[in-house]
Amino acid sequence: MLLPVYRRLPLTFVSGEGSWLYDDKGEKYLDFVSGVAVNALGHSHPKIIQAIQSQAENLIHVSNLFHNEGEWKLTQQLIDQSDFDHVFYTNSGTESIEFALKIARKHGRSLHKDKTEIIFMENSFHGRTFGALSVTGQEKYQAEFHPLLPNVKMVPFNDIEALECAVSDRTCAIIMEPIQGESGVNLAHQEFVLKARELCDDYDAFLIFDEIQTGIGRTGTLFMYQQLNVIPDIMALAKALGGGMPIGAILTRQAASYAVSYGDHGSTYGGNPLVCTVASTLITEITESAIMTHVAEVGAFAKTEIQKRFQAFDSFVEVRGVGLMIGIVFDESKILNTEIVHAALQEKLLVISGGNNIIRFYPPLIATQDEILDGIIRLEKTLKRLEK
Ligand SMILES: *Cc1c(COP(=O)(O)O)cnc(C)c1O
Repeated sequence: MLLPVYRRLPLTFVSGEGSWLYDDKGEKYLDFVSGVAVNALGHSHPKIIQAIQSQAENLIHVSNLFHNEGEWKLTQQLIDQSDFDHVFYTNSGTESIEFALKIARKHGRSLHKDKTEIIFMENSFHGRTFGALSVTGQEKYQAEFHPLLPNVKMVPFNDIEALECAVSDRTCAIIMEPIQGESGVNLAHQEFVLKARELCDDYDAFLIFDEIQTGIGRTGTLFMYQQLNVIPDIMALAKALGGGMPIGAILTRQAASYAVSYGDHGSTYGGNPLVCTVASTLITEITESAIMTHVAEVGAFAKTEIQKRFQAFDSFVEVRGVGLMIGIVFDESKILNTEIVHAALQEKLLVISGGNNIIRFYPPLIATQDEILDGIIRLEKTLKRLEK
């Protein structure tokens, strides 16, 4: 038996293609979960399959005692496509966060022994290991696991005044998601992000962006920070980066890169030839095709269409998001998002719930406009049925 950590839907999938999944009964579902923002190129993308097959025939794993070509290639691409100068590979988002926090602590301590405080946001989600959990601003995840990491301080998201009050000489980092995903597709305000950048500069602290969910094209640019006119010192990636293969990364720049030395961190699997080659193939496909323009276009189309079709429903509050990172907010006194997720299965549509009673509408980035409209109509039918 599996430990009862996840509440699973009663479905077992056996294959997939593009935006579609097939279960063990031969039923076909429109997949707007995308493996929780992972399957950017959908299911069974020919280039991903090809990369896995050919790399597996050559080399799967060698360890970090040696170099490997896939890792070099992916690193060069990430650096070329961003404002960062160094990369470290992990196996998940949570692990990426852990190392980001360690780098910030090390840098802070090198300046002053009490410069160890990490500021994080209310309603954030950064993962569930002790470090990442300590900066995840949701009591429901933390409650049973105290004591957590000391010297962390929570501020309300987008509250400039609270952020200014919280930051001091003891601050070594501010960590945030540029769009909070898990807790409800909450967008960071431009002024808030600029203030965070300014405070980090003034106090010699690192700005850490968790782009695990926003990254790799989901918002219509390769990274969300590119739309916010700030460059963080450290960026955490995972989810879509590997096209479904388990890989995470942190990207660092300038002082954050110099803070790291031999032995500071490690990972046996991290950056292995197989996952890096697949990730490199994915980055090539996303950056050299028209996918990101497509994401921006169909994302705007989806929001307009959802607004138009759903405004008649009593339970509908609003639709928000950037690109194909879309959150649909429902009034929880009228309907629960978990009910919608279950009811949508009857329409053969897969969507995810999120914090504050939202439905996360996350098509694969390659979903066509027709497929997106199809998904919206399936959700509309679901709501009609539920509101009767
Ligand atoms: C999913 C997610 C994580 C955790 O990543 P894992 O790969 O599940 O460890 C951290 N931060 C954000 C913003 C996420 O969306």
